[in-house]
Amino acid sequence: MNENTPSGPIAAASRLPEMPAFEPGSVWLVGAGPGDPGLLSLLAFHALGQADDIVYDALVGDGILALAGAGAVCHAAGKRGGKPSAKQADITEKLIELARAGRKVLRLKGGDPFIFGRGGEEALALAAAEVPFRLVPGITAAVAGLAYAGIPITDRRVNSAVTFITGHEAGGGPPEGLDWRALASGAPVLILYMALKHLAWMAERLISAGLDPDTAVVLISKATTADQHIVETHLAAAAADAEAAKLEAPAIVAIGDVVGLRAALDPSATPEARARAALALSADGDRD
Ligand code: SAH
Repeated sequence: MNENTPSGPIAAASRLPEMPAFEPGSVWLVGAGPGDPGLLSLLAFHALGQADDIVYDALVGDGILALAGAGAVCHAAGKRGGKPSAKQADITEKLIELARAGRKVLRLKGGDPFIFGRGGEEALALAAAEVPFRLVPGITAAVAGLAYAGIPITDRRVNSAVTFITGHEAGGGPPEGLDWRALASGAPVLILYMALKHLAWMAERLISAGLDPDTAVVLISKATTADQHIVETHLAAAAADAEAAKLEAPAIVAIGDVVGLRAALDPSATPEARARAALALSADGDRD
């Protein structure tokens, strides 16, 4: 940037790339991220300002809806953890109906629409109905939640894979069909979504399958919001600690050695404590 380039937020806004037109009669299926409005993409922000109708999920916070254009009609389409999803057909029907009425329809979902978010089902329904649509990813709760807690989701010294798991099958039960032995031995970092209800069950499965009961665990509730609540524990104690801390949904659970990096990167720790931990961790790394 040279010295003649204007600076400041207004000047920056004038340098935004041109956004695609939000066509009347189309649906934008957009991820809103896990809560902090600062994590919206520019496309999501643009769509909020342009939409005639916003059909949003329970996980989309007020801070994000506050960015909607003045004339937008907001429709709550929320289903909350574990409840039967009988309304899914109604939601897709509403999207199609609004689009056919010539509206600019924003379907806003928490996190990323395609990570345990049924975005695929909704997009398929739009495709089948020949309604034009655009798919806009969002930052998923695991990625943002770990970052806000000070945990890199991968670290090449620690894990060369990361596995996202849903703690809820379609019928509301735990994910019985997974190969727990393979997960325990071959998946160095596991992230559980919708996991609070069946956490004891899943921890027990992993331990029975050979995962060390002392494996580091972090529980992150309401990640990236003002009510964010983080509990560090270990696998054998995770379910009991979640209960003792009265941890509320939505929450993610991360299991694996990357959790140990938090000591050096926790935004709420003092710079001195972080430096001490960072130096100790790099000394460990040098020995390998
Ligand atoms: N599509 C969403 C996930 C929907 S499933 C995404 O990509 O993030 C709902 C689950 O997401 C919750 O049960 C919880 O496990 C997780 N989740 C969503 N928002 C969260 C938040 N702010 N903090 C912690 N977990 C969250």
